[in-house]
Amino acid sequence: MTRVLEMSRSLQRRAEGLFPGGVNSPVRAFRSVGGDAPFLERAQGAYLYDADGNRYIDYFGSWGPMVLGHAVPEVVDAIRYAAGRSASFGASHAGEAELGELIRTAVPSMERMRFVSSGTEATMSAIRVARGFTRRRYVIKFEGCYHGHADGLLVKAGSGVATFGIPGSAGVPDEVAHFTLALPYNDIAAVEAAFAKHKGDIAAIILEPVVGNAGTLIPKAGYLEALRSLTEAEGALLIFDEVMTGFRLALGGAQQRFGIKPDLTTMGKIVGGGLPVGVFGGREDVMNMLAPLGPVYQAGTLSGNPLAMAAGSATVGRLIREAGTIYPQIDETTRQVAEGVAQVAADTGVRLTTNRLGSMWTWFFTPDAVENFEDAAKSDTAAFGRFHRAMMEEGVWLPPSQFEAAFIGLAHGKDEVEKTIAAARKAFV
Ligand SMILES: *Cc1c(COP(=O)(O)O)cnc(C)c1O
Repeated sequence: MTRVLEMSRSLQRRAEGLFPGGVNSPVRAFRSVGGDAPFLERAQGAYLYDADGNRYIDYFGSWGPMVLGHAVPEVVDAIRYAAGRSASFGASHAGEAELGELIRTAVPSMERMRFVSSGTEATMSAIRVARGFTRRRYVIKFEGCYHGHADGLLVKAGSGVATFGIPGSAGVPDEVAHFTLALPYNDIAAVEAAFAKHKGDIAAIILEPVVGNAGTLIPKAGYLEALRSLTEAEGALLIFDEVMTGFRLALGGAQQRFGIKPDLTTMGKIVGGGLPVGVFGGREDVMNMLAPLGPVYQAGTLSGNPLAMAAGSATVGRLIREAGTIYPQIDETTRQVAEGVAQVAADTGVRLTTNRLGSMWTWFFTPDAVENFEDAAKSDTAAFGRFHRAMMEEGVWLPPSQFEAAFIGLAHGKDEVEKTIAAARKAFV
């Protein structure tokens, strides 16, 4: 069967006349995997439907948010109801406190928080408040971690930055990047050396506690604990960027799963139920540095938007009510798909390394262990591209880059697992 993508191609020509590369976010263009990127018309449950009527099993979930599946009736209803009461107020309303309380129930370290409209804004603002609180300048990040596209965080970043091999973005002055120290992930000695070199001037460490944006990387035993005790000893803040892992690895995110309490946490993706939401929060004494209480400025016309709060509350509310069944289910479905396809690869002589935790995973096209970005970068990206194109032909939509995690949601079941493994059998020959 060869897919027809006539409508998609015509939409693409239209988009290319408007948007650089025809897209509003770079990895959507499928440049690193090759093949045509379908234009979507709708999605339901675990399935995506393109403009030509082709159907795909969705393994990227809008890059993470759609953990309950697409067009879930209670989320749709919540958005509809909120929209009928106005799309935006620009003033405070009960919906903000409702979602805020749900978040704090799940993630108690977020004593105080503030809503923004994207993960990028959440991390950018968290770093500003960390610098304002500590009165220090440097921030440590890790190679292959992606924290959105703010200037100071685009140093050796993951996601699209890694996909396109951009070492640091053009348009960011060296003076801005100077205060970002990019170190290898899973390497405590490198962090100790940085603290020794910049004694008393490191404001914070920001990291994805489990990395998704280099493909999935899992922290070595003791690594997160060591970061926690080092930051404490050095008077720096520990920021967990849980934009991807929040409400995914557990109800309380990676910090619950690993039992580590960061000073600040950033979230996005799932917390907005598919609408544009970010949130940053943590220690009350740190968060009270924000205006109007303190001298750190941060604001947003659409922050706490009523539609976004409604979609977030419907999603997070369901996750809280059903955490005991949802998380074991999505973790088990993920295990079946990740191991099932890895077995097919092994049977056909393709050497993969599968990194998986909870409902996120990556098949790296390398036989060697992948513990940091340097290991991930050894993957055969051309082979990944061929696999991606073949799976698309079979109706399975994987994230279109070796350096992105795949996700499963509540709508994925036995049927989808079996279809995916069957598709891999054809794709690997
Ligand atoms: C997606 C992501 C971001 C950026 O969020 P946007 O909403 O795309 O700005 C930041 N950090 C992590 C860990 C992410 O996965």
